[in-house]
Amino acid sequence: MDASGRVEWPEGRAFAFTVFDDTDLATVENVSPVYALLRDLGLRTTKSVWAIDGNGVPRIGGATGDDPAYRDWTLELQASGFEIGSHGASPVTSPREVVVRSLERFREIYGHDPEALANHSGCRESIYWGDARVGGTSRLAYNLMTGFRRRGMFRGHREGDPLFWGDLCRERVRYVRNFTYADANTLAACPVMPYYDPVRPYVRAWFASSEGADVRAFNRCLGEAEQDRLEAEGGACIMYTHFASGFWSDGVLNGRFRELIRRLAGKNGWFVPVTALLDHLAEKRGLMVLTAAQRQVLERRWLRSKISVGYS
Ligand SMILES: [Zn+2]
Repeated sequence: MDASGRVEWPEGRAFAFTVFDDTDLATVENVSPVYALLRDLGLRTTKSVWAIDGNGVPRIGGATGDDPAYRDWTLELQASGFEIGSHGASPVTSPREVVVRSLERFREIYGHDPEALANHSGCRESIYWGDARVGGTSRLAYNLMTGFRRRGMFRGHREGDPLFWGDLCRERVRYVRNFTYADANTLAACPVMPYYDPVRPYVRAWFASSEGADVRAFNRCLGEAEQDRLEAEGGACIMYTHFASGFWSDGVLNGRFRELIRRLAGKNGWFVPVTALLDHLAEKRGLMVLTAAQRQVLERRWLRSKISVGYS
């Protein structure tokens, strides 16, 4: 940080930008054109994967590491500087033994453990998910908003449960994503990231993200004015999106997306994957330990976004 509290970015860059791409519905066909564009523009981001199919029929489509052509393509991405992160063990709820198998398989394929992870909302072994994302009165508010349908539903952090894998998460995963905000400057919405939350000890460090769930939300979050503000504020954007949701359709890339991402890439930004960005923040400022007051601010800010636009 400099004297004004702003983070200094490497190589004299003015701001930082990356993407965490949720792998729901993704296939080589529907996301490789998006990655070809990012690569050509010099952007390097994080693509999440499921290392294995897991048990049973996926409730949501999308390829996994069990598909050789898809696996090879993700390895090419990795070789060209993209980060491969995790979207959990598989597209379906995975008990501990399947989580272990998936972690081993991830390491076999990519040569190391997943460094950045985001829970998949359909999987009940998700860690600190559903109403466990928040505490106190925020949890009550969350449960009221969701009609108590997700109360206690997610169990990855519950010791003794067949879905428990918190100890493995703490051992092998470095960063897990929790809150998502409307602001393109993720660091302005969550100035403490990456942070350790003492009441959620199975996660070594948390990060937040900006809301760009599909191509429309992405384009809205990263419009010209928002890009210019991100740059002026010297901030950091970790866009959370699903590149399989409308970026490529009927054989063409979404025109507005192409225009916006080209414009952004023309700026003096630091365009590195999620883990590199978070490592830089942690190196400059140390890993923050969340206080009760800070937790309350983050939780309430997230709930307000959720009420207004239904953020993930
Ligand atoms: Zn998902």
